[in-house]
Amino acid sequence: MLSSPARHETDRTDVIVVGAGVAGLAAARRLADAGVSVSVLEAAPYIGGRMATDRVDGFRLDRAAQLLTSYPELRRTPGLDGLDGLDGLDGLDGLDLRPLSQGVLVHLGGRSQRYAEARTARGPLTAARVLASAARSPLGGALDQARASALLNRLAAMPADRLLARAELPTADALAARGLPSRTVDGFLRPLLTALLSDPELTTSSRCADLALRTFARGRLCIPAGGASAVPELLAAALPPGTVRTGVRAVSASTTSVETAEHGQLPCRAVVVATGARKAAGLLPGLRLPRFHPVTVLHHTADAAPLAEPVLVLDADRRGPVSYTAVISEADPSRTPPGRVLITSVVLGAAAREPLHALDKAARTQLGELYGTQADGWQLLAAHHDPEAVPAMRAPHDLQRPVRVVGGLYVCGDHRDTSTVQGALVSGRRAAEAALRDFGLGAAGAPAELRAAAA
Ligand SMILES: Cc1cc2nc3c(=O)[nH]c(=O)nc-3n(C[C@H](O)[C@H](O)[C@H](O)COP(=O)(O)OP(=O)(O)OC[C@H]3O[C@@H](n4cnc5c(N)ncnc54)[C@H](O)[C@@H]3O)c2cc1C
Repeated sequence: MLSSPARHETDRTDVIVVGAGVAGLAAARRLADAGVSVSVLEAAPYIGGRMATDRVDGFRLDRAAQLLTSYPELRRTPGLDGLDGLDGLDGLDGLDLRPLSQGVLVHLGGRSQRYAEARTARGPLTAARVLASAARSPLGGALDQARASALLNRLAAMPADRLLARAELPTADALAARGLPSRTVDGFLRPLLTALLSDPELTTSSRCADLALRTFARGRLCIPAGGASAVPELLAAALPPGTVRTGVRAVSASTTSVETAEHGQLPCRAVVVATGARKAAGLLPGLRLPRFHPVTVLHHTADAAPLAEPVLVLDADRRGPVSYTAVISEADPSRTPPGRVLITSVVLGAAAREPLHALDKAARTQLGELYGTQADGWQLLAAHHDPEAVPAMRAPHDLQRPVRVVGGLYVCGDHRDTSTVQGALVSGRRAAEAALRDFGLGAAGAPAELRAAAA
């Protein structure tokens, strides 16, 4: 703590963080580690924001259905790995990630094609992964597959700064310009990028798409054991008790206080706004509001697993509203009551705005075809629609927007970096570092005498 002997009292706190999503919690974690007293105010009755997980009849159902990449890769900032001091994932060492170990299954032209890892002498998580061959592959012959593999392996090996120096186009245009066979683009890269970017039109900056593909090629698709909320819970658990206060909504913010709906004005020495883009624009007039990609997540349960393997199923044929689906209980059985099955499916773009009844009906028909089963009898456990799920990253996209509004006022969230969990975490870290610099504490944190005074 910088000046007050009474630590963790909200009215004396050094920094108030508004919002307990992963960005706000990452910021709080960095500040607390530096010896600064922090209070996190969260409007909802729970932490995690878009990474919240609901408990329904013994199921653990994510409001979003985030796809993460394996932890060793997650520890590197998208686009910034190799740069010192920007590891946004402090505090996640204990995170238990369950891999979608069977890779990706793409449906095209009525057939399915698996994208699998090649096990090499250096282990399974190397960049050397290939497209599995099949006699009548929708991805084309061996040459086409080899070209697609070579593209991924090139991206995996490419230093981030070289990748970011490439021309920036809408992803759809960049894919068309790269001379790849249309089978490779339409049968693999397009559906995969649609899923990774939550963007079926592929208007996203090609640099962001390349980063997403690069991360995919270097790592492994994963989900957190027990639900997405494991990530914010782990971050919050490392904070001093009482740091996070739920059910407290900020109505305005300045460099020296936060006005709340429930407790009036709370004074402090600095404020970090970590609310998500729209709320941040309300609290910080002048902040640019991005466009958003809507997402609807459908959680079904069935009597038996329609596919007994942890694999991400992509529909390149676009025969219905679902972009991707997985039998989540195959990757993470802890998300269901014993013996039950959880199938999670994600609807993107305009289809995500369809009324739930029509959407569920169309999705069941499509899911039945994708899994080769009857989905009419499946039970819909929950559906979550978020019209502003993912901030759009249209070209030209600044991968690191400013997080310092003025001295004493900072902003973080996925709208400041990449629109991903990693981006949100890194932005929180950046905002905290900016505040520490303004406090004169620098990147390393509080000087020893301040740490001692705060203890
Ligand atoms: C359906 C869906 C699918 C997604 N898929 C992926 C994916 O596959 N991969 C990936 O990496 N990312 C994905 N994302 C994005 C990812 O979830 C977000 O980028 C990340 O969780 C954003 O974290 P954040 O902390 O920036 O914001 P949020 O999680 O939105 O946190 C903001 C917090 O601030 C609180 N708040 C707002 N206003 C106030 C106020 N006035 N006072 C106090 N508190 C306030 C909110 O309640 C919330 O808890 C997906 C998101 C959704 C919704």
